Amino acid sequence: VKERGKGHYQYYRKDMKKGTSQTMLLETGLRKSIERDELVLLYQPQIDLLTGETTSFEALIRWNHPELGFISPGEFIPLAEETGLIIPIGEWVIEKVCKKLRDWKEAGYSDISIAVNLSPRQFQQPGLVNYIERNILTNKIDSNNLEFEITEGAIQDSKEALHTLAELKKLGVKVAVDDFGTGYSSLSYLKYFPIDTLKIDQSFVREVLQDKKDMAITTTIIHLAQSLGLSVVAEGVEDEKQAIFFKKMKCDKAQGYFFSRPINEETVEAHYFKK
Ligand code: C2E
Ligand code: CA
Ligand code: CA
Ligand code: CA
Repeated sequence: VKERGKGHYQYYRKDMKKGTSQTMLLETGLRKSIERDELVLLYQPQIDLLTGETTSFEALIRWNHPELGFISPGEFIPLAEETGLIIPIGEWVIEKVCKKLRDWKEAGYSDISIAVNLSPRQFQQPGLVNYIERNILTNKIDSNNLEFEITEGAIQDSKEALHTLAELKKLGVKVAVDDFGTGYSSLSYLKYFPIDTLKIDQSFVREVLQDKKDMAITTTIIHLAQSLGLSVVAEGVEDEKQAIFFKKMKCDKAQGYFFSRPINEETVEAHYFKK
């Protein structure tokens, strides 16, 4: 027993040490990723299910690490949140997206929108609305071409969140609730908070046609959005049957691998902006 305990202990320590240095390595790298120009934005099309046209894109970040290659946001966004690095990274995303909207507007494509993810810590950052406003003004873009996606966790029923949302709405940008239905939160915020869009989480979409409960939940979310006058987007649509289902349900938009994976800006421009 003693031996096993000792071995276990050593194993545990070794593992912990490895985990910690790996995290520290990532943190140091992440700190420098902006100046080293290692961050990349991909864009995933959002399709209007009534017309079949792409009306907007969601910006999704990637980190092109010099040794490790592409790292997904699922791996470094939580670290960025913990360390506060999400603030400069988030500002980089906002700046980049506003410049992209300016480029597209100058090229004659002014009715395309981009959705930007905001993590809870970013949403709580006092300078956020100001930073967004400055970027809208410098780039002379239309604020209604910008949408911000926030999760239920970031909005809870707090006065600060309501204030931030009201300030965002004053700018004329749109607000979407991301991963709707997964946040263990009450629905009362839908009554008080100025929200434009609900995004049905992909966990409900994946087996929507096989699982009766998923079907009940997605149908209810679509009806809820419709009754409240909100726009509704299905995320993670991977096959044609799902796309047809959401179209039949009069879900406004869909996004997912069936239509397109997230793509780089050159591909967006070559594919969607035919000269
Ligand atoms: P999310 O906002 O829920 O984004 C949707 C995720 O689902 C993306 O993963 C997207 O690539 C993936 N996806 C899209 N269509 C499909 C599909 O048909 N099937 C499947 N299985 N997956 C699909 P990604 O790009 O790895 O991003 C993961 C999460 O990282 C995002 O989840 C978001 O929470 C966060 N994130 C991404 N970019 C940013 C950013 O710029 N800022 C912040 N704060 N968070 C970001
Ligand atoms: Ca999102
Ligand atoms: Ca989502
Ligand atoms: Ca998610």
